[in-house]
Amino acid sequence: MGKQSKANECQGWLKALLKAEQFTFALLVLIVILASGGESWGLPRSGAEPIKNYQVSVVNADNNKMVVEEPSKSVPVGEAPKPSGEITKPEETPEPEETEQPEETTKPSGPKVWHKKIIRQFPGAGHKVAITFDDGPRPEWTERYLRVLEAKGARATFFVVGAQAPKNADLVRAILASGNEVGNHSWSHSFLGKVPEDVVRADISKSMEVLEKITGQPIKYFRPPYGSISPQLVAAAESLGVKTVTWSIDPRDWAKPLPEKIVNHVMNRVQNGSIILLHEGHPGTLVALPLLINKLQEKGYELVTLSELLSGQ
Ligand SMILES: [Zn+2]
Repeated sequence: MGKQSKANECQGWLKALLKAEQFTFALLVLIVILASGGESWGLPRSGAEPIKNYQVSVVNADNNKMVVEEPSKSVPVGEAPKPSGEITKPEETPEPEETEQPEETTKPSGPKVWHKKIIRQFPGAGHKVAITFDDGPRPEWTERYLRVLEAKGARATFFVVGAQAPKNADLVRAILASGNEVGNHSWSHSFLGKVPEDVVRADISKSMEVLEKITGQPIKYFRPPYGSISPQLVAAAESLGVKTVTWSIDPRDWAKPLPEKIVNHVMNRVQNGSIILLHEGHPGTLVALPLLINKLQEKGYELVTLSELLSGQ
């Protein structure tokens, strides 16, 4: 009995000793990881720089060669888009559209007559598509898109934010001078589908005035920020003689998908008369643009302005 008890006691001690050894070893490993900052163990250091996951490639229109540039800012991996319901002040960078489908503020119970006035695509356009860029003009970006478009023999429509236009008037004129089109993306870049008709009208009108003064041409199309629409908004635009244009393809480029994903999203959905939504200011979009144009042209699509796309309407 005594012998057995002694053996059990020994076994207990041995187990406890083993556990203590395992614990000590784990503690040592933890100390080494912390001391090395986690780097040598493949762990991210807190406060590390965002990972630059790609560089920007731009087609140089002069010699038609690819030029690799350092992005003006690195792209943090996995950064969440910033949903914002706040009205953007004129000097601030506007937030991109957030909705796959344009957001309706008012759900009409009757037939959606006003809905039919919104241009989303134009299947009767033949083998043509329209690329559109929202949220410019932007000094570091607009000219880059223009160079790519010119080098590829493509045209696009730039929906510019009125409040950003006066200080970038040269860029607005450069859009037109290169055969592209300027559209109105509101003055304030706010949720205009949620405000009364007179407020929408004042906003669209202010932006139109500024843009027409800069370009010397009438502005024909209005794109509501965030795709926020309402019967009042469509009526306000109509009363000012502009058509409300949304889109039929949205690769959500503002969420920083890989350039290939942007291209594939569009190519999987494109058809005659598609209107493609892109945004200024995103490195991935700039990288995707020449690839996207190549693919569309390989499929026989002509890339045109909205006026050209809708000319047969
Ligand atoms: Zn926008």
